[in-house]
Amino acid sequence: MITLIKTLLINITILFSLTYNANVLFPFKVKSMLRVKHKITYGLIGAFGAFLCMLYPIETLGATHFDLRMIAILIVTLYAGLLSGTMVLTLVLIYRLILDGPYVIIGIIVSILAFVVAVAFRKVFLASSAKLIWALMIFIVYFSIYFVSIYIYVPILNTEFYFIYFSVFCLTFISMIYIIEHLIRTNKQIEEMMYLDKLNMAGQMAASIAHEIRNPLATVRGFIQHLSDESEDQQLKKYSPLILAELDRTNKIITDYLNVAKPGTFHLTTIHLENVLQDCVELLRPFASYSNVAISYHPSGKHWITGDEQHLKQAIMNVIKNGIEAIEVKGEVHIETKEIMSSNRIMVTISDNGKGMTHEEMKKIGLPFYTTKSKGTGLGSMVTNKIIREMDGMIEYESEENKGTKVKISFPMM
Ligand code: ADP
Ligand code: MG
Repeated sequence: MITLIKTLLINITILFSLTYNANVLFPFKVKSMLRVKHKITYGLIGAFGAFLCMLYPIETLGATHFDLRMIAILIVTLYAGLLSGTMVLTLVLIYRLILDGPYVIIGIIVSILAFVVAVAFRKVFLASSAKLIWALMIFIVYFSIYFVSIYIYVPILNTEFYFIYFSVFCLTFISMIYIIEHLIRTNKQIEEMMYLDKLNMAGQMAASIAHEIRNPLATVRGFIQHLSDESEDQQLKKYSPLILAELDRTNKIITDYLNVAKPGTFHLTTIHLENVLQDCVELLRPFASYSNVAISYHPSGKHWITGDEQHLKQAIMNVIKNGIEAIEVKGEVHIETKEIMSSNRIMVTISDNGKGMTHEEMKKIGLPFYTTKSKGTGLGSMVTNKIIREMDGMIEYESEENKGTKVKISFPMM
């Protein structure tokens, strides 16, 4: 019994410590598209974990090898995907073949089954918000197959050991998923905090200089207008509209910036979301058709949220406008709403089939002054993010280069 507990603890410690190490190397993220570099790292760490588990098997009943390597296969395949899962599986299979013995075939079959089960459940698992329940389901499915396989192929019956082994298997598997989810949430909070810190700094800087710039700007604008009205100078008449337009643009940048700095101008009311979306669409339709872009929006249902209507319009219009601007020749911006019953939120999805973004570009969205447009300010997304946050909303970008971008914004429903 003592050796059993000792080896169990060794297996569990191996798995948990490697999970933390993987998170230190590449912090776990929500549904992020993993790059090959990350996949290989996760695969290597998982393979190493599975290998260590096999080096210290929990129990060797006769020539069997019971250890927790399947958890490494399941978790790595579920979270990191086929490539990483295959890496873990391959190493497990090779080492199992080296270990050899009469049960090598069944050892290989149950390892492959862990991989197959994880692949089969991967999509629903990642999409679900009730991860622990799915983890339990995955365990039950795998356990049933596993149990039947050993029941048929392994004649040794030691009920007490099987009971302990499968209970620990289940507990370890579910706690690992719990910990990974927890790490994902913590990482996200840290990222948000860093982002808010940057916003704060941008805000303070803006507040301190905006007024100083705006006043002389207004004076200059007034004089230019006055001069061009009064003067006979053709040059002045010709260029003054340009000067005025540029001055207005400067003023707009300052206003946008101040919007980030000023926190207290929110008037919370109950907003009919579909009406706001419809208004935004109507307001942007001329701009869209000028850019050869169709906006498709078919309001469905009535949803009420709390927030500031004017600010919300500004935020939504920023996103739609970015969608339109991302389309180079001709395309469509599609808007739809969907209720998320599990969290009682309403999600607005704004997708375009424009030029999309790379992984690197996506990370920079919302940072002050990040823009790739010659006439952009790089403030739109920052203001949008701030407004949405202030309404308890969440915003998420998904994008693929040359395919398009999907912006998902969700708010608590009333
Ligand atoms: P601006 O629109 O003034 O450039 P934003 O903060 O609104 O500033 O956007 C920042 C950058 O993010 C844009 O310049 C663009 O490169 C990128 N971006 C935002 N939305 C999209 C989108 N829907 N498709 C492609 N790129 C986008
Ligand atoms: Mg913009």
